[in-house]
Amino acid sequence: MEHKVIKHWINGSQQPSSSNRYGDIYNPATGKVIAKLPMGNSDDLEKAVNAAELAFKSWSKISITRRSQVLFKYKELLESNREELTRLITLEHGKVLSDAAGSLQRGIEVVDFACGIPHLLKGEFSEQVGTGVDCYSTRQPIGVCSGVTPFNFPAMVPMWMFPIAIVCGNTFILKPSEKNPSCSMKLAELMQEAGLPEGVMNVVHGDKEMVDAILDHPTIKTFSFVGSTPVAQAVNSKASANGKRVQALGGAKNHAVILADADIEQAANAIIGAAYGSAGERCMAISVAVAVESVADELTKHLLEKAKNLQIGPGDEPNNEMGPLITADHKDKVIDYIDQGVESGATLLLDGRQHPMTSNSEGFFLGPTLFDHVQKDMSIYLDEIFGPVLVMLRVKNFSEAIELANQHQFGNGVALFTTKGSAAREFVNSVQVGMVGINVAIPVPLSFYTFGGWKDSMYGSSNIYGMDGVRFYTRTKTVTTRWPDIDEDEDLNLSMPTVK
Ligand code: NAD
Repeated sequence: MEHKVIKHWINGSQQPSSSNRYGDIYNPATGKVIAKLPMGNSDDLEKAVNAAELAFKSWSKISITRRSQVLFKYKELLESNREELTRLITLEHGKVLSDAAGSLQRGIEVVDFACGIPHLLKGEFSEQVGTGVDCYSTRQPIGVCSGVTPFNFPAMVPMWMFPIAIVCGNTFILKPSEKNPSCSMKLAELMQEAGLPEGVMNVVHGDKEMVDAILDHPTIKTFSFVGSTPVAQAVNSKASANGKRVQALGGAKNHAVILADADIEQAANAIIGAAYGSAGERCMAISVAVAVESVADELTKHLLEKAKNLQIGPGDEPNNEMGPLITADHKDKVIDYIDQGVESGATLLLDGRQHPMTSNSEGFFLGPTLFDHVQKDMSIYLDEIFGPVLVMLRVKNFSEAIELANQHQFGNGVALFTTKGSAAREFVNSVQVGMVGINVAIPVPLSFYTFGGWKDSMYGSSNIYGMDGVRFYTRTKTVTTRWPDIDEDEDLNLSMPTVK
């Protein structure tokens, strides 16, 4: 069967690739190939860079209000195309439609934020910093910006980047995940429909070869990355060495700490949603439950009961709560971790390998897995598995729980379940993690805050979106002005003035 071949989006239209290397795009719920994707190369990138560089000359000069009007129109279009975008996410990613719709909404919220950015682009002004001297600062766009994004949020993560970069006056080249690129194509087309001039937003496809071409291209001034930690680390080094401004968000192993005073059933509900939603393929998924010993048995009972009853199947069928994993390879990798957990002596309470969907479907389904009595030196605790696997560790007390979260390599998100204000306050104060939830399992900051983890969950100095996004995509220029009268007497002076 002939498959649809996805193209690049360059200079306002679909463009073929000059590469003869192609990848397969799957529907993870059926296991079938549904499209082919060119693995683009530096020649393809050159075309996108040329278009973006040319477009920057005029786009950066267009009034801020006109730029934000395009974003207002874009928001309207995203809302009227909500259903199609949601279906595209589910088709190529596998997550259930309601979850896909929620992730799109979080992306739209960044567009909301971007519409109001003219207010945030205002500089500062100080009158009379010296006699007859004023000083002010402005934020100016940087030029051609780039973004490389992961498979797990095909709409939301690209939208953390390009709406902010573009409204700030930059042009953008997006390289979405090679596993589910169609959503990005639709997002770019809608930008054009909203009135964005050609060349301001471009989408190129590919894998490491294309990413390396982006990293090496001298015209590209910024590099935003979201993906796994080893890649984040590598691209952060290379982008920095090449003089680019860089933000690189990596992987996670998010802990939920459950104290004895918590409402255990409420906590269990929240943890199940956060652990198995999107089949655990979320950077903010809870993959570790840390329970103080006195409530561990009760928590386990609730978790097991709820996990066992999750409805698993294709994301576009109503009532399903969890869809498939992204690829067959990834499913094998997650199964390998379950094997390792069993070998290392953790107690396997629920075995996703035995779920009927795991073996009876052509899709990449894997049932939910729950481990208890996990130890801190086991690979199922140390590594990011990125699948529907929740591991539980038992601790003697609160300080031991904080210590666990603090010692872990990752520091993306963390949650505490408690009814005690003083415990919550101490937790917020001392936990070494970037995003903290108190009785909130997935504490993803709204678009007017910023998103970013600590430790190996993020490299670079800037969080993504919010005010950090505005700072990342602009450069500050500070201007000192003086308007002396033409006939004013001026002494020649080679020293720095002491009193102005
Ligand atoms: P990935 O690192 O495999 O791929 C991410 C992007 O990098 C893709 O566009 C891919 O084409 C590219 N890439 C892959 N290997 C590369 C290499 N060697 N050199 C250069 N580029 C390369 O990640 P993924 O599997 O698509 O996504 C899952 C990962 O993303 C998880 O680790 C998850 O925690 C992380 N993630 C983090 C956040 C966050 O906010 N911190 C958000 C979403 C996902």
